[in-house]
Amino acid sequence: MRILSLFFLFITLSLESSSQTVSYHLSMPEPHTHYFHVDINLVRFSEDSVDIKMPVWAPGSYLVREFSKSVENFRLDNGSSKMINKNTWRIYPNGNSVKISYDVYAFEMSVRTSFLDESHAYINGTSLFMYIAEKKELPTTLEITPPAYWKKVSTSLERTSDKTFSYKAPDYDVLVDSPIEIGNHIEFHFDASGVKHNVAIYGKGNFEIEALKIDMAKIVESCTNVFGENPNKNYVFIIHNLTNGSGGLEHLSSTTLQVNRWGYQTGRNYESFLSLVAHEYFHLWNVKRIRPINLGPFDYDSENYTNLLWLCEGFTSYYDELLLKRAGYYDSEKYLRKLANTISRVENQPGNKLQPVTEASFHAWIKAYRPNENSKNTTISYYSKGALLANALDLIILENTNAEKNLDDVLRVLWNEYYKKQNRGFTDKEFQTAVEQVTGKKLDNFFLNTVSGVETIDYKTYFSYAGCELLDLNDGAENVKLGASTTIKNGRLMVTRVYHGTAAYNDGLYVNDEIVAINGYRVADNDMTTLVDNHKAGDVLTLTLSRDGIMTEIKVTLQNDKNVNYRIVPIDRPTEKQELIYKKWLSE
Ligand SMILES: [Zn+2]
Repeated sequence: MRILSLFFLFITLSLESSSQTVSYHLSMPEPHTHYFHVDINLVRFSEDSVDIKMPVWAPGSYLVREFSKSVENFRLDNGSSKMINKNTWRIYPNGNSVKISYDVYAFEMSVRTSFLDESHAYINGTSLFMYIAEKKELPTTLEITPPAYWKKVSTSLERTSDKTFSYKAPDYDVLVDSPIEIGNHIEFHFDASGVKHNVAIYGKGNFEIEALKIDMAKIVESCTNVFGENPNKNYVFIIHNLTNGSGGLEHLSSTTLQVNRWGYQTGRNYESFLSLVAHEYFHLWNVKRIRPINLGPFDYDSENYTNLLWLCEGFTSYYDELLLKRAGYYDSEKYLRKLANTISRVENQPGNKLQPVTEASFHAWIKAYRPNENSKNTTISYYSKGALLANALDLIILENTNAEKNLDDVLRVLWNEYYKKQNRGFTDKEFQTAVEQVTGKKLDNFFLNTVSGVETIDYKTYFSYAGCELLDLNDGAENVKLGASTTIKNGRLMVTRVYHGTAAYNDGLYVNDEIVAINGYRVADNDMTTLVDNHKAGDVLTLTLSRDGIMTEIKVTLQNDKNVNYRIVPIDRPTEKQELIYKKWLSE
C-alpha cells in the first residue's frame, strides 16, 4: 500500500512537471522609449508560490551587472508578488496558470546587454528574460511581436511558424544563449564546413558581402579543421557596425560582433575583423562546449568562479591569430612579429610579475572587469598571457612528439572526452592531464610555476625548438623614462598611470597630477618626452605639479627604460627537427 501510494505520487508529480509550460512573449511597441515588454505565461504551476529570477550576469562576460536594475512594472494578471532579494520576485498566483509581465529599459549598446531604439532591437537574453527558479530545464517558446515596420528577426533559435516570429528552445539556457537581432538589417548566408551560416548586419559600413562570404567561410573552415567536426547545422553571425564598435560575445550557435563601421577595408582593420570572427567562432567549441567544470550549467544568480579563463580566452586568442596564418592572411614573418609584440606587451606590464593567470581568471569578476588606474601594476590579462602559454604548450608538444602532435590535439582530446563522451566540464587537474597525455610527459613544473605562478615563460628554450631566436631590440639601449602615462585634458598634461618600479613611482608622482613644468620649462602639450629624453639615468628632474589645484614640486631620479621590444627571428641553420617543428607550427 505504501509503495503503491508512493508510486501514484511519483506518477502525479512527473505528469505535472512534464506538462508545465513556460512561454515568453516579447514586444516593443514604442522603440524610441527603449522599453521592451515581456510577458511570461506559466501553465499548470500548482505551487503556492513560485520564484521568478532575473540573471545578474551574462555568460562570457564575467561581471555581475545586476540586470534587474532595468526592470520596471513587474505584475501578475492574477495573484500577488513581492521581491525577496535584488533579483527575485516571489509570486503567489491564484490558480494554476498565471501571466507575469514586466518592462525592461534597454539602451546600452554592447554585446552583453540588450538595446532598443527606432533603428533596431538587439537582445542578449540574460538581460531581458527572467527564469523560473529550479525550472530552467523546462522547454520554452518565444513569440516576438516587432513593430509593423520591422520585417526581419535573426536568431539561432528554432523557428516554429513561417507566418509569425515564433520560436522554441529546449530549455532556458538555450533561450538566453541565442541572441536576437530585430529590424530591417541586411541578411545573407554562406555554407561552410557543412553548416549553413546566416549573417545579419545592422548599420552602415564599407563591407562587401561577396568578400565577407569568402573570407568568413575560410575562417569557419580553419576553425573546424582544428576540431575535425562542427556541431552546428545552422549558425548565426549578428554584426553591428558602429562608429566605435569593438568586441564580440560567443554563444552556442551564434555570436554577436560589434565592429568599426569603416573597418572592412583591406589591411590591418580588416584583419582585426577577421581575427574577431575567428575568435568568436572558435569559442563555439572552446568555452561553449569544451568548458571548465564551473562554466555550465550556469548559475545566473552569482559569480561562477574558474581558474581556467586562460584556457577559454587565452587559447582562443592564440588561435584567432594562428588561424589567420593557417588561412593565408598572414605570412610567417608577420605572424611572428605580432606574436613578439604580444610577448613585449605582457612582459612590460608590471602586473605580470605579480598575478598568475589562474588568479587573473578567478578574480576576473572583481579585477579584469573592474579595472582602475593601478590595474596594470597588479594584474595581467588572461587573454594575452594565456595566448603566450598556449604558444609555449604548442611548442612543447611539437618538440616532445617530433612534430607528430600539436596543441590542436589537446583540444580534440578535451572535445572527445569531456564534451562528446561525458558531456560535462573538466577540472583544472583533468585539463593538465589532457595536455600531458598529448605531450607524453609530466608538466607539473610548467603548470605550478608558470601557470599558477609568475615565473617568466622560458621563451628562448621554446622558440629554439622551432629554430627561432627571441631578440630584444632594446638590448643595450640607454633610453630613460619617467614611468608614467599621461593624457591631455582641457589643455593640461594629466598623469593617468604610474608604473611600479619606475622613477615616477619611486619618487612619488601621483595619478591625477598635472605636470606643469620640468626643470622650470613649461610642458606644452606632448613635448614631455623631449624634456625627459635629453637626460640620462641618474639625472634628477624637478617636476612642477598641480595636485588638486595646489602647486608643488617633486624631484625624480631618472632610470633606464627596462622595457623589452622583442622580435622572433628564425636562425640561419636549423636542424632537421627544428625545421620540421617550424613548418608544422606555422603550417608552411
Ligand atoms: Zn573570447
